[in-house]
Amino acid sequence: MGIEAALPTDAILTTQLKRVINWARRSSIWPMPFATACCGIELMATACSRYDLARFGAEVMRFSPRQSDLLIVAGRISVKMMPVLQRIYEQMTEPKWVISMGACASTGGVFDTYAVVQGCDQYIPVDVYVPGCPPRPEMLIEGIMAIQRHIDNEGIPPKGPNGKRIPLNIAVQPTHVVRPQPLPIGLR
Ligand code: SF4
Repeated sequence: MGIEAALPTDAILTTQLKRVINWARRSSIWPMPFATACCGIELMATACSRYDLARFGAEVMRFSPRQSDLLIVAGRISVKMMPVLQRIYEQMTEPKWVISMGACASTGGVFDTYAVVQGCDQYIPVDVYVPGCPPRPEMLIEGIMAIQRHIDNEGIPPKGPNGKRIPLNIAVQPTHVVRPQPLPIGLR
């Protein structure tokens, strides 16, 4: 980390235990991908070398809920699939967080039908909403950084008096700027 170059090797640092735990927790998030559609491809790209999710310590995708603490819902969720998603959420270790990635996971997107859940937050607590169809990898990284900031400041997620989880309800702001077409488009 380079800290040993800045300090003598026999130096002593003091801090609060809470800060060390939060630092370790936010630097080693293990995502559980629940990718059902096209957003899943962007999720895969986020872990590849171009975007390098490993820079944030969050590249170790676990397909076992008991080893994961960040559920990333990427893609549309059908009514039939929702009990599976709920069971996976319940099996994950505490403390845990949830990112809803893309329009379909957050709202059902263009699939306004009886078979598609119109927002997974109706069934599981969603902490961060990442906009887009699909969101770019940078947007997903913004969402993960929002979770990291929360862990840094607060530690574990909030719970109500009845022990029920309170979602953080953070919406990542879109950053995409539409550029003009490189060539004029017209009818011939
Ligand atoms: S939000 Fe768009 S890209 Fe993502 S799953 Fe839905 S249709 Fe596909």
